[in-house]
Amino acid sequence: MASVEVRNLSRTFGAHKALDDVSVRFEDGGFYALLGPSGSGKTTLLRMIAGFDYPDRGQIEMDGESVERVPLEKRQIGMVFQNYALFPNMSVAQNVAFGLDVRGVKRDEMARKVDAALDLVQLGKLGSRRPHQLSGGQRQRVALARAFVFNPRVLLLDEPLGALDKALRVDMQVELKRIQREIGITTIFVTHDQEEALTMSDRIGILKDGRLIEEGRPEEIYNRPRTLFAATFLGDANILSGIWNGEAMVLADGTLIRIGDVDGLSTGGKVQCAIRPERIRILADGVAASDNKVRGKITRRMFAGVSSTVFVDCLGMTMRVVVPNAGMELLRDGEEISLTWSKESTIPVRDSR
Ligand code: ATP
Repeated sequence: MASVEVRNLSRTFGAHKALDDVSVRFEDGGFYALLGPSGSGKTTLLRMIAGFDYPDRGQIEMDGESVERVPLEKRQIGMVFQNYALFPNMSVAQNVAFGLDVRGVKRDEMARKVDAALDLVQLGKLGSRRPHQLSGGQRQRVALARAFVFNPRVLLLDEPLGALDKALRVDMQVELKRIQREIGITTIFVTHDQEEALTMSDRIGILKDGRLIEEGRPEEIYNRPRTLFAATFLGDANILSGIWNGEAMVLADGTLIRIGDVDGLSTGGKVQCAIRPERIRILADGVAASDNKVRGKITRRMFAGVSSTVFVDCLGMTMRVVVPNAGMELLRDGEEISLTWSKESTIPVRDSR
């Protein structure tokens, strides 16, 4: 296994900067998710690490050794993509063995490695089947076994679960995490699914326009985003803007909003804060008012199973409040209510380029 570190990595296609001065360290044995909008550079970063493409500038190190000019086959990296095309005319075992065969690995050693890889993904009994005789999740496991069979030092996954339906996807998340823990392999995972990133990874990096906007532990980045982009891209956030008067944020209508972490705010300067919808509570009997309290009118409620989102017109905008479903039946559209939230839930965020 190996740590991977990229430093000041840039890659330009024509006039377009696909990666712009990206520096990040992927710890040995860690599970790292890369998130970002379409075209933000996630795949480009994986391709550089794998050795499918080379950077214009910057370094890539594995365990402290520079590899940016080392060819792909020498980097010992396993990769799984969303389109994991298996050979339809070969058995599962032959599909897994293919890369070893090409490299001239001896028959008995090959059989041993294929068995071990299939056991790892719990497909030990299905080696003789053809891909069309497998479910989508089982095919995905074959793709994983094909990556593991080389004993890679690093595993790169580009939307590997993207083609699976929700239930299967959740099963495979559990499975993938089990395997990753079992062999302790450094894993870098590209996904569009935020929940997947939050639940599975040790760290998350958020890319935008080829730049790494923010990175950190899932709780850190979700609970204390530093940028407007991270606050709104990862999860939902209500954004309030105003002027810092030294004690509170003053909104355009004069409302004072208390803020938890005021380090770096300058008196008279503009400030914007993110408030997670589930941190806001509707004031009712038995709910104590917190640092911030505003009046508003319910305009809409959106049922989402475990919880619901209530849209409340207040402070000249529509605030979103997530409430558990128990108690929802008491709320009516058009009803005037009070909302409350703590100053710690009011997180100052700066603009990200
Ligand atoms: P998605 O989530 O849609 O897969 P991504 O974040 O993985 O997107 P990349 O595939 O890394 O994005 O692409 C980053 C940018 O670089 C895009 O604007 C893309 O069009 C451009 N790009 C990538 N590869 C090439 C290439 N070989 N030639 C020209 N432009 C490229």
